[in-house]
Amino acid sequence: MTSNNNNYQSKGTIFDIQGLSVHDGPGCRTLIFLGGCTLNCFWCSNPEGINVKPSLMYAEAKCIACGNCVGKCSQHALSLNEEGKLNIVREICRGCDSPDCLTECYTDALRLSGYEISVEKLYEIIRRDRQFWGRDGGITLTGGEPMLQPDFALEILRRCHEDYIHTAIETCGNVPWKNLQEVLPFLDWIFFDLKHMDYGRHHYATNSGNSLILENARRLSKSFEGRLIFRLPLIPDFNDSEENLNSVISFLNEIGRNEINILPLHHLGREKYQLLQRDYLGSPYLIPSNEKLRTIRELFRGSGVDCFIGGETPF
Ligand code: SF4
Ligand code: SF4
Repeated sequence: MTSNNNNYQSKGTIFDIQGLSVHDGPGCRTLIFLGGCTLNCFWCSNPEGINVKPSLMYAEAKCIACGNCVGKCSQHALSLNEEGKLNIVREICRGCDSPDCLTECYTDALRLSGYEISVEKLYEIIRRDRQFWGRDGGITLTGGEPMLQPDFALEILRRCHEDYIHTAIETCGNVPWKNLQEVLPFLDWIFFDLKHMDYGRHHYATNSGNSLILENARRLSKSFEGRLIFRLPLIPDFNDSEENLNSVISFLNEIGRNEINILPLHHLGREKYQLLQRDYLGSPYLIPSNEKLRTIRELFRGSGVDCFIGGETPF
């Protein structure tokens, strides 16, 4: 698909843009968070990015139960209950593009988690940020799962590539191969997550099995000419057993890779679950100790796989 083809998706949904990031690719980068994911990991730190459509976020502590928003919702998704608390029927709420419910809320108790943006507008922001990256920087598309909006992602990556901007994506890999294949010519780096090697455990934690993920990892290892970095979000008592880690090593050996980046569990996204009125199921899982992380690093390195923890990446 080229710029002469008018079929590309000229708009997409994003839920954040972060400038000056130094952990998700070489140099200083602009991270763009695309909405929508095919997984639903219980430790996810960006739950507002699971749906492509933006979700209503509600800060109960700021709500004075004035009821202004209730009559403004044409879908009747809002009501005040007997205790004077706002009730949001999330099955009805559509995450409107210009939501009337927000305009009458003077305490900022309501906001939308994301917004639609055109390729043109986003590219303007990228061009503006470019002056701050220095020599090695660029953009990283993340999410959510950036390959769930493949045409939008493709157009952004293509423009950047043509302008000699370094491009990277962070993917969970659980998307049709075609979505990944089409962006490869415009990509320099791919960060690819492996969550668990056992199909059943993967399904338990993410709502999806891992067959497509592993198949895509195999195909990328063969066909992608840029840098492919596998990542393992490390969740104690879920995927840190020696059995699972040895399976990761075997898989990397099978596909001819010898590097892994471990991302230790954190709970920084917990408050967003409150705003979305969802339970955070990651709470019972403890953050891994430094000693545990050192042991895991030695296990990988002892098997010939270079292992980097968190931000101590090789770039
Ligand atoms: S986002 Fe739209 S549907 Fe949802 S509560 Fe607001 S106005 Fe109603
Ligand atoms: S308008 Fe804002 S403060 Fe008033 S009830 Fe709605 S959310 Fe609460």
